[in-house]
Amino acid sequence: MSESDCLFCKILAGDIPADIVYESETAIAFRDINPKAPTHVLIIPRKHIATINDIGAGDEAVIGSLYSAAREIAKAEGIAEEGYRAVMNCNEAAGQTVFHIHLHLLGGRSLSWPPG
Ligand code: AMP
Ligand code: ZN
Repeated sequence: MSESDCLFCKILAGDIPADIVYESETAIAFRDINPKAPTHVLIIPRKHIATINDIGAGDEAVIGSLYSAAREIAKAEGIAEEGYRAVMNCNEAAGQTVFHIHLHLLGGRSLSWPPG
């Protein structure tokens, strides 16, 4: 999928609305449209990277910034101390449906392990 067809690039461009909760130089985060927990936020890099497999050697700072965003958003949502999950699916077998990497930040309820 090219960047021009990418749903999350369209959200980044402001062409599709989203409930944005966080913005930095390298990342933005918005509420999942179909939340699986009381807090379900998607944290994405501004750079289009399709899957974890496509992360390059020069992308470490960008990927690290997704976790800094997770820390800040968890604090703002009031779930930092009780706990939360930050997870990224890669390709079909793991359930990836949008091919612009995104960290799911899930919290506000007990989360079972292992996931299905
Ligand atoms: P994944 O299955 O890991 O690729 O996650 C994709 C996520 O994007 C799902 O949890 C969807 O509910 C979510 N999603 C799809 N379209 C939108 C949208 N327009 N705004 C916010 N979240 C979306
Ligand atoms: Zn994209």
